[in-house]
Amino acid sequence: MNIVFFGPPGAGKGTQAHFIADTYGIPQISTGDMLRSAVVSGSEIGLQAKSIMDSGGLVSDEIVLELVRQRLLDSDCKNGFILDGFPRTVAQADSLILLLKGIKKDIDHVISLDVADEELIKRISGRRTCSACGRGFHVLYDPPVTADVCNICGSALVQRGDDSESVVINRLSVYNQQTSPLKAYFKNKNLLRHVSGEGSIESIRTSIINVLNMGSIDHS
Ligand code: AMP
Repeated sequence: MNIVFFGPPGAGKGTQAHFIADTYGIPQISTGDMLRSAVVSGSEIGLQAKSIMDSGGLVSDEIVLELVRQRLLDSDCKNGFILDGFPRTVAQADSLILLLKGIKKDIDHVISLDVADEELIKRISGRRTCSACGRGFHVLYDPPVTADVCNICGSALVQRGDDSESVVINRLSVYNQQTSPLKAYFKNKNLLRHVSGEGSIESIRTSIINVLNMGSIDHS
């Protein structure tokens, strides 16, 4: 199953994509995670991406496309994949469809996680990530057993630099201008499935699984 997770920053794409990847045994491909790794490794791509990511803007289509193109060729993608945070522009979506056609694949579902703006800001400001293993937490909705410490590996939890309020406001505005037009784009292709991204993590996960199990009906 080839799935795209779509939604604004803070909608829960990463959290839910992680669960669905485990459930279906397919990899989660997060362009945000790939770019953050590139920044940490100090690679050429990381150097080009860092300041753009820090300000909440979008990294160039060429860079993200090349990352995705290479990743989709990996053998673990042969039975499916979940794209998380990609595509983010109409140009990226056009290129993705071409790219998939070239490797004889299609998108089966675009899951749109719908969350109100006020809730997004609350969610993003409470988000914390393990500095070592990358596991995500939330100070209110999914707190670690011990404050600021990862349940899994015991390392310190940190807040992403681009989760600060001023950057979040820019990320939401970039989303509204450049990414939200993709809703109409995927609706026209009969791929868009709306799922409410509000409620418990578990109930949202169940709704997504129900939609995926219903097959390729138009749920938009
Ligand atoms: P995310 O973790 O998905 O919120 O992404 C974090 C940051 O990485 C974004 O604010 C962008 O700067 C960059 N980024 C991630 N995915 C993309 C993409 N598909 N196109 C352009 N920039 C991206």
